Amino acid sequence: MVERLKTLLERDHIDRILEADIEAQEKQREFVCRRMKDRFDTICVLGAYSQDDAYAFKSIVPCASMSVASPFQSAEEAAAVLAYKIPGYVYTRIVNPTNYLLELTLAMLDGYDLNRYSDEIQTSALTTSSGMAAIFTAVTPFLHPGCNFVSSNKVYGGTYMQFDVELRQLGAECRWVENPGDLSEWKNSIDDGTRFMYVETPSNPGLFIADIPALADLAHSNGIPLIVDSTIATPVLMRPLSLGADIVVHSLSKAMTGSARAIGGALVSRKNIVTKEKNAELRADFATWVRKWPYRDIGACMSPANAERTLDEIRTLRHRIKTMSHSALRVAEFLRSHPKILRVNYPGLPSHPQHDLARREMVMVDEEPANAFSYLMSFDVKGSVADANRVVESMRIGYHTTHLGSSCTIRIQPSCTTHLQQGEEARRKAGIGETQVRYSVGLEATSDIIRDIDQALATVS
Ligand SMILES: *Cc1c(COP(=O)(O)O)cnc(C)c1O
Repeated sequence: MVERLKTLLERDHIDRILEADIEAQEKQREFVCRRMKDRFDTICVLGAYSQDDAYAFKSIVPCASMSVASPFQSAEEAAAVLAYKIPGYVYTRIVNPTNYLLELTLAMLDGYDLNRYSDEIQTSALTTSSGMAAIFTAVTPFLHPGCNFVSSNKVYGGTYMQFDVELRQLGAECRWVENPGDLSEWKNSIDDGTRFMYVETPSNPGLFIADIPALADLAHSNGIPLIVDSTIATPVLMRPLSLGADIVVHSLSKAMTGSARAIGGALVSRKNIVTKEKNAELRADFATWVRKWPYRDIGACMSPANAERTLDEIRTLRHRIKTMSHSALRVAEFLRSHPKILRVNYPGLPSHPQHDLARREMVMVDEEPANAFSYLMSFDVKGSVADANRVVESMRIGYHTTHLGSSCTIRIQPSCTTHLQQGEEARRKAGIGETQVRYSVGLEATSDIIRDIDQALATVS
């Protein structure tokens, strides 16, 4: 490898500094290739931070490297790094040491199944300033004026607006699939101008579950990638890349950083994505290509302080998701038989329209066989919009806000808030009822959560 990089530099002589850079990179790559064979929890806790890193920094945890830039030790090093001839830290907008540790961790987690059976890491990741920035960064490389893309209409409110308003203004047409469980509707929307397919699963707030292998097959037979927003599931419950997807996007602001202390996003791609783009580097390693070119120039990088916090939180990711998911199932079962509830939407209930699919796709990593259906549910209150408002206002456990996936319970009424701007017609099509409450179960005691919901429902007649 060192020899290969030396020839890449097209030089007979290579200076000591460059050699040290190349060897450090190689050492990190070898370390990641060993770490990615460890179990999920070990990757979560220790990630890409090696013993040697810990000795060098005199710290058992990775600390945020807040420096905007990294110094060069020679003119040759500066030239080689900036020309992308050797990888190296330059400037935080492109790559930062702390962000990079998080990126390697995310690549290992979303690529968990793919990397276990490989000698080289099969996935790469890129962090962004928010989940919306991750989506924008992931989709825009495929868009050209006059082209189109096909998306499930059961997406996060921000995604809906980005696709329907912002991207349309840039000249790309979003074709919404109204019944994303119906493969023929996807098929009928695709033509020669289609550049990618996009789905969110489970969807926020509708909890729609997508058949990822079937959608990936359809995308690939049309020569285009499948991009999946896997924010709700996190790699604990679902790893879309091993189900056939090409690119995964995450909001790291939600369950990944359960403390609700850091906003961030990420995209993770597999090697050799399927696409109509001709650029060989883009196809071979999408996330790395994006980092070098559009990401550098768009400027939506993550703050290293947020990367440090997210790394901290990921250490407990599997445990948090497991506890919250088990609690959520009990809450959903309680709501199902409550007289003031019209409908409970939770993939763990047999009444959920894609319960069987959820059982196939939502499997807790490293547990035999253990379905878990996440912490998120929605339920429709019997009565008026005002009744649903009163229920939300009367709850005392957790907070009434737009967030979800955090260690504290969160509730909101999407029709009056997060999904207000898209209008009643679009909400109806996306299955978001006017009295629907989105409920994200936290780590509080399940008995307290259930008691609180019960007293809040008692406030409406
Ligand atoms: C919150 C959310 C986003 C957007 O993430 P931000 O970090 O808030 O920008 C995207 N997708 C889903 C499913 C979300 O829940």
